[in-house]
Amino acid sequence: MALVVQKFGGSSVADPDRIKRVARRVVDTKEQGNQVVVIVSAMGDTTDDLISLARQITTKPKSREMDMLLATGEQISIALLAMAIDELGHPVVSLTGPQVGIVTEPVHGKAKILAISPERLRQELNGGNIIIVAGFQGATNTGEITTLGRGGSDTTAVGVAACLHADVCEIFTDVDGVYTADPRVVPQARKLEAVTYDEMLELASLGAQVLHPRAVELGKEYQIPIRVRSSFNYHAGTLVQEGSSSMEKEIMVSGVAYDVNVAKIALFDVPDQPGIAYRLFKALADERVNVDMIIQSAKRNHTNDISFTVVQDDLGTAVKVVERIKAEIGAGDFIFDDGVAKVSIVGAGMITRPGVAAMMFEALADAGINIEMISTSEVKVSCVVKGDQIKQAVQVVHAKFDLAAD
Ligand code: ASP
Ligand code: MG
Repeated sequence: MALVVQKFGGSSVADPDRIKRVARRVVDTKEQGNQVVVIVSAMGDTTDDLISLARQITTKPKSREMDMLLATGEQISIALLAMAIDELGHPVVSLTGPQVGIVTEPVHGKAKILAISPERLRQELNGGNIIIVAGFQGATNTGEITTLGRGGSDTTAVGVAACLHADVCEIFTDVDGVYTADPRVVPQARKLEAVTYDEMLELASLGAQVLHPRAVELGKEYQIPIRVRSSFNYHAGTLVQEGSSSMEKEIMVSGVAYDVNVAKIALFDVPDQPGIAYRLFKALADERVNVDMIIQSAKRNHTNDISFTVVQDDLGTAVKVVERIKAEIGAGDFIFDDGVAKVSIVGAGMITRPGVAAMMFEALADAGINIEMISTSEVKVSCVVKGDQIKQAVQVVHAKFDLAAD
């Protein structure tokens, strides 16, 4: 008997028919002789709808109340899915994050999971129940409701799988697995049979929408095999696990990722002195702003220009911090732009092959796409481009590296 954790995203439970279909699938897994724990997201666009409701009340909702509001989305889907499974005649119980004992840091909006207690889950499984757990939520150890950040249900799923030493964590989504590029942007993209946690981490954090990066990190840490598969068919999907994805070894670039949730800030005429970058980025870190690319230009007249990218949701906070720090460090003006996006090539074999970055730049140049920022690492090359050119950028880069299915 295996212990299977399954996670269904918002699109898989978007309406009553889909919820019934998910129920059938969960019951099939149970009837094959497995113990099953299911994590669900809020139905369809519920989370977005709740956010827009709040915005109609206030432009500055308290983050505590935001979590109180957003956590209700998942509570709807666990109850409905449990009802659907009950209809199929199987013992089932729905549990909120706090009921499971998912303890998070005392941070609202993007809390990290500190611990999950296995007791309640074990007790329900031993009682023969299928368990339906609300994704994306937990509580602090003083009982305040928190959420894990957008897309956080994946993290709940892998966290629960780790806590129970599950045999596999299946992430059901609206695509067949992990592709060489988003198939909605590049229809010829090829599905990957297997990827390593590290490859997936790059693809996920670069905006391949299929898996939340924190979930991949957690999977790697606890060595939980994660299978990404479609909730609309029975294809095997893509297995994310340790070790080499041998099929991909000879290929220098395994995928093209993109991220539109990017904003750029450029601060000009920053004094060229020790401690300046520290003060700026420490202040941003203190406000929990996620900074991604950082570029400091060559100095001229004893000053530097520093530009960096943040996730779009953090732009407001980042602008406030820069506004304050700019005066403290005696920097000049700054600009920001949320109309940008990032395209990246990912591949473990890249570092040993000269000219890979140039090939990417050539593809963009041939398409007349201007590159605003570039960053490279051992496993990726990323370019920031205008947001309205991002789809074309992904397509031309994907074609350049010949990643399409035969
Ligand atoms: N419902 C949350 C969101 O839309 C969490 C999730 O779906 O993973 O971000
Ligand atoms: Mg999601």
